[in-house]
Amino acid sequence: MFDDSQGMKTNLSELGEFGLIEHLTRSFSPKLTSTIKAIGDDAAVLNFENKYTIVTTDLLVEGVHFDLAYMPLKHLGYKAVMVNASDVYAMNAKATQITVSIAVSNRFPVEALEELYAGIQLAAKLYNIDVVGGDTTSSTSGLLISITALGVADKDDVVLRSGAKPNDLLVVTGDLGAAYMGLQVLEREKQVFKANPNAQPDLDQYTYLIERQLKPEARKDIPPLLKELGVKPTSMIDISDGLSSEVIHICKNSQVGANLYEDKIPLDPAVISVCEEFDINSTTIALSGGEDYELLFTVSQEDYDKIKANPNLTVIGHMTEEEEGMHLITRANTKIPLIARGWNSMEDKNKKNED
Ligand code: ADP
Ligand code: MG
Repeated sequence: MFDDSQGMKTNLSELGEFGLIEHLTRSFSPKLTSTIKAIGDDAAVLNFENKYTIVTTDLLVEGVHFDLAYMPLKHLGYKAVMVNASDVYAMNAKATQITVSIAVSNRFPVEALEELYAGIQLAAKLYNIDVVGGDTTSSTSGLLISITALGVADKDDVVLRSGAKPNDLLVVTGDLGAAYMGLQVLEREKQVFKANPNAQPDLDQYTYLIERQLKPEARKDIPPLLKELGVKPTSMIDISDGLSSEVIHICKNSQVGANLYEDKIPLDPAVISVCEEFDINSTTIALSGGEDYELLFTVSQEDYDKIKANPNLTVIGHMTEEEEGMHLITRANTKIPLIARGWNSMEDKNKKNED
């Protein structure tokens, strides 16, 4: 991707480690009052006064979590920030600072890392997050990115995975499955391109799906929206692995069961049509596709009136006693046990490799 023919050829060794750090971070300037000292010392200094501090970290490895063949580096940087911010929002908190650590091989020119940092910077700016530090080292092969995000919340606002009660409503934000189908479209195009490098893909009808894959947006808006509605969820989690595994996480952590209604799962029309095209069941994709970065939470039945009219929120089921187990109620009104990856009536042709 970054060969000399594209004019991207400044070798990393030309800058050296400190030069590179300086080069990549020179335009980061802290904006938040909680950032006392950002990049440039041995450590950052933050001040959250008497609030709770939220900390979360994610490691992204080339070839495992991303493929640079169809993930532009700018998008990768953006997405790496989103993945972390999403975990902070899932605690019903505000994301405030991140640190960014990279291990990079010399096959990447400086220009490639500039792209990565442009994505990180854009995400940080749009989400009002300060970049306050990181680490830079070499890698013998691929690229590794580790981001740690910090956040802040009032003590009483923090929501864990463990507070769901029987009869609570199960609620999801946005719509599901689009990011996974975006990846399917991109993978198909990669194969087409391999077979015929001159093929001009027409991806217009897949714009929403591809954007959801390449430029996911974490739900920064949800913690303040819940506050405005006067609703405190009893439990919450972000949807990174697929609805099914996240429901299971809430159930296990809260010691409850759940009934999830297939006909309530929010799907964008673009997901429905691409699933028809790929001959894949759209419910399977919503349940096990992953990377939606929507939020899944539970609320008390009493809060139903506060959330029911909100277009961002869809009630998709309710919690039960733990003994009742975790089920999907299908459109045909049959009860199918939820499993972590898809559900057990999944047809063979849709099966993912369990690796
Ligand atoms: P140290 O040797 O103390 O770890 P470094 O030279 O690695 O210090 O880092 C100097 C400063 O630059 C620190 O504030 C560090 O947090 C920041 N930093 C280093 N690498 C990165 C990076 N990839 N992205 C953002 N900040 C970085
Ligand atoms: Mg260091």
